[in-house]
Amino acid sequence: MPARSAAPARSKPKSTSRPRKLGPEQVARAWARKLDAKRPGLVSFVLDRLAEANGRPVWQPRLDPVSELILTILSANSADINAEVAFEALRAAYTSAAAPVAASTEPRALPGWGGRGLPNLPPPDWSAVEAAPLAELTDVIRPGGMANQKAPRIPAALSALRANGGNYSLDFLAAKPPLEARDWLAAIPGIGKKTASVVLLFSFGTPLMPVDRHVLRVSQRIGLIPPNADPDQAHDLYLAMLAPEQMYEAHVSLITHGRRTCHAQRPDCEHCPVAPRCRYFDPKAE
Ligand code: SF4
Repeated sequence: MPARSAAPARSKPKSTSRPRKLGPEQVARAWARKLDAKRPGLVSFVLDRLAEANGRPVWQPRLDPVSELILTILSANSADINAEVAFEALRAAYTSAAAPVAASTEPRALPGWGGRGLPNLPPPDWSAVEAAPLAELTDVIRPGGMANQKAPRIPAALSALRANGGNYSLDFLAAKPPLEARDWLAAIPGIGKKTASVVLLFSFGTPLMPVDRHVLRVSQRIGLIPPNADPDQAHDLYLAMLAPEQMYEAHVSLITHGRRTCHAQRPDCEHCPVAPRCRYFDPKAE
């Protein structure tokens, strides 16, 4: 009897579905897990070494939240000292009725800030700032640089605050969950994740991690974040990598390190406390 031929093996149907694309939060969590597995303890090492060199930053209130918002708008793509000049020009041009006649004009240092600081004076009259003709407002803040881009953002932000509660206040954001508060601020035209995170972190201690150019540069060099991460991604990565109580310290420590040691040009690696684990200094650093 002839042998029965074996039935042809069925080939597996090819999947036509594309691999599922991960969302930014999943990508960030995956990076945090990978970093922890490949370079354990790196975040703590960096924070501890920077704390030994520069002191461990402890949150303290800086400015009132609306001043923080306007100062941060003025500091975009400008040196902090120029933002101070523009803020002081606003204060002089639109003086608050509450301003004392003879108040100290001595600047007070602001944590995490690169300028000379600001005197402890009442904020400008925000209703006068919002109502000012745009050309006038632009001229007032011109000494701070990039006035044409920044001037329209100021009344837009003030108008959004007033429309929300009838006054110029951000206090309601203190009680919101961090990402909800950040999204509320970032919905205002001209306000991005960084500005929103700065305002919330410094005003209320909201656990968010602002990533400016110093934080981005230092983080990429050490290898805390991938070398090609953009600022937007870096915000998500840090939210996955840091415990809430580490965010203020990480922001202030990395920004200070970027200003004092890890300069954009010629970083001072010879005197850097983080060098033993920095991938810029040693590409094989663990
Ligand atoms: S070793 Fe050099 S590149 Fe690395 S963090 Fe320190 S100063 Fe920056």
